[in-house]
Amino acid sequence: MKYILNSGIYSLLMAAFLALTVYPQNFGEITVKTWPDDRKAAFSFTFDDGLLSQSTNAKQILEQFGFRGSFYFVTSTLTEQLPGVWRYGSWNEFTQMAANGHEVGSHTVTHLNLTNIPAGDTLTEGTILYELYRSAKKIQEKIPFEKAFSIAYPFTAHNQLVDSLSAKFYLSGRGGGNNFNNSSLTGLDYFKLKCKENYFNLPRNSPEDDLDELNDFIAYTQSAIDQGKWAMLLAHEVVPFSEIGGIINSTWYPMSNEWLTALCQWLYSKSSANEIWVETTANVTKYIRQRESFLYQLIAQNDSTIKFIPADTLDNLIYNLSLTVDVLVPSDWEEVIFQQGSVLQTLNTLTIGQNTFARINIIPDGGEVTLLKKTTANSFAVTGNVLYHNSQNTPVENVLLVLSRQDGVQFFAESDENGSFTFPSILSGTYNLSISKNENWGGVNSTDALFIMKGYSSQLTLDSLQTAAADVNNDGFLTFSDAEMVMKRFSRLINSFAGPDWIFSLNNSQIIVSSSNINLNVEALTSGDVNKSYIPQ
Ligand SMILES: [Zn+2]
Repeated sequence: MKYILNSGIYSLLMAAFLALTVYPQNFGEITVKTWPDDRKAAFSFTFDDGLLSQSTNAKQILEQFGFRGSFYFVTSTLTEQLPGVWRYGSWNEFTQMAANGHEVGSHTVTHLNLTNIPAGDTLTEGTILYELYRSAKKIQEKIPFEKAFSIAYPFTAHNQLVDSLSAKFYLSGRGGGNNFNNSSLTGLDYFKLKCKENYFNLPRNSPEDDLDELNDFIAYTQSAIDQGKWAMLLAHEVVPFSEIGGIINSTWYPMSNEWLTALCQWLYSKSSANEIWVETTANVTKYIRQRESFLYQLIAQNDSTIKFIPADTLDNLIYNLSLTVDVLVPSDWEEVIFQQGSVLQTLNTLTIGQNTFARINIIPDGGEVTLLKKTTANSFAVTGNVLYHNSQNTPVENVLLVLSRQDGVQFFAESDENGSFTFPSILSGTYNLSISKNENWGGVNSTDALFIMKGYSSQLTLDSLQTAAADVNNDGFLTFSDAEMVMKRFSRLINSFAGPDWIFSLNNSQIIVSSSNINLNVEALTSGDVNKSYIPQ
């Protein structure tokens, strides 16, 4: 089977369908939306130089609106802790910011103009390669859970050489340019990102004096929305307006808290209206790159099921965002059941022109995607409880339940702290139910070994679940060797049994969904807990 490239090669797509001759229409055809949730445009906040005011002021303002920014620092200027050098912050703060989901990117090691120095190498100070590589490496060392995905060029200065060298270490690079970026990028376009900076004009006696720049910036972002593009703000210092006068001559065009808050309010309204996607430079870059390299393999297509495998050609450790896609479905599908991995949702389809689509968020390389037509006549809830087989009927949480259909489609549910689980929408059919749990084995001691011995010598009657829990060597019989194995594990001579650590009633049973909702009562025992003494937490 071939992957179908999602780059508008319609004839290739049609050829694939003709070869299959499954259906007259191209159901299952997939279009990746330009931006997540079909938003019209993207927006990134970028802050240069790693200044203390960014972690004390900008961070809080952004987070108040649920936004995250990209912060670019000059690695040689950050100190371990406060107080910092001049107005710079410390590694402590920026590590905290990264932990909160902000992007920490590179603004090089020493803030040299990269267009004025030689390419050099990663060991020679004062060269482009040294500045690019050493700053990324330092960030990785200092913030091990983060990686510098993008770079902001000092003085926004860059050229073809700087761009091509940056591509060795980063996913994207941001210059200046007072413009916005296309929604699709290729090659070194990713290293020529443009942004808009605010050169606040004088006088600045009150916050109102900065209103013209606010309106100007909003107009810039609105045009990005109108054109479906990616807008970026470049800022440096962010301080209360009352402090602007004190630093205006010593730092680069400081922005006021009031100004940034007003911009955030406007962006928040646009974001709530699904018009703009506010994300870090790294994540917007990743989304575009994933969209541009998206592939899929259609593996089933009939009047009730569409199945495909989404993929991309990228490193899954870095490129792990979900993509919003529209999947063409037959026009009589009003609701669809969507599943990928452990994600299971029921969604309404949408109609655009003559076509009906399921709009879903999928992870390329995140496993097979199944879309099933849902009808009220054929879809039912399967619910139930998992309770421990002790006298208290203690609820058992984190039990994984899987319903598997003969064609390989699987549905997943997990029990909650009350032991309850729900498969909200299961099409009628015959399913195999498998039940498992990996953690929190316990409750087994020498009394259980005694119960097993009494059980196989018929001095004690064990019920079916107790019998299954007693067969710890998993050979289908109760013998002395089961009792011996229990003693060995209790004495820590072994640390597992031959079978699973948890035994469930209804495991591997057939579930037939036909005309009504189903409720299942699942009983659990840990393997070996024949006397039912365990109380799982
Ligand atoms: Zn700078």
